[in-house]
Amino acid sequence: MSRPGTPGGQPGPQRIADRAVAASEPARAYAELTAGNQRFVSGAPRHPNQDAGHRAAVADGQHPFAVIVGCSDSRLAAEIIFDRGLGDLFVVRTAGHTAGPEVLGSVEYAVTVLGTPLVVVLGHDSCGAVQAARESSATGTQPPGHLRAVVDAVLPSLRRAETEGVDDIDGIVDIHIAQTVETLLRQSPVLAAEVAQGRCAVVGVSYRLAAGVVRPVAAVPAGFATLDVPTGSADPVAAA
Ligand SMILES: [Zn+2]
Repeated sequence: MSRPGTPGGQPGPQRIADRAVAASEPARAYAELTAGNQRFVSGAPRHPNQDAGHRAAVADGQHPFAVIVGCSDSRLAAEIIFDRGLGDLFVVRTAGHTAGPEVLGSVEYAVTVLGTPLVVVLGHDSCGAVQAARESSATGTQPPGHLRAVVDAVLPSLRRAETEGVDDIDGIVDIHIAQTVETLLRQSPVLAAEVAQGRCAVVGVSYRLAAGVVRPVAAVPAGFATLDVPTGSADPVAAA
């Protein structure tokens, strides 16, 4: 990828230096996300990086520490459920976190140009896109308009669920999250190369709408999301 213009301007020497630091830290990025989710779940969010001073501080450039490829569901706002603020998360959302070319390009932009060290696929229970695909498959009917593209993108996950004997909706959702992780890596050699070189990790997490909790269901490299990452030794918000 050539150096495209960025929302915050061209990458300069300092940005490249920042990228080198950030790119070595996928585990720390994941720890910061899970710490934020724990604050949200416990009812003690800090709403970091949402004040006017920080807004001005990040106006000249962005260094988000995680890419979120999430479902568009209105109850799944990334900055809220991970208790983060401006400049922290590079968020790409589609119904059912379907990952077409524009999504792949957005992920590659964040990982290669901004140096973001973590990609998180964010799905959730009772996902309407997964339910719509399930109904379409069961009835043999095509949804109208461009909704068909969403349904078609989810159908491979339904077939995989059938193969694995999974038929409950939330089990299918977990499979679809894992399938999206694999799709990102299979369709984006650029992302796969970043992961292979240890500069980035890809994690799929499932969010519970009522409880607000995220749970890892897939990770590349394998076992990444179960790493024992120390979160209590430093203030994750202050360190962000
Ligand atoms: Zn959804």
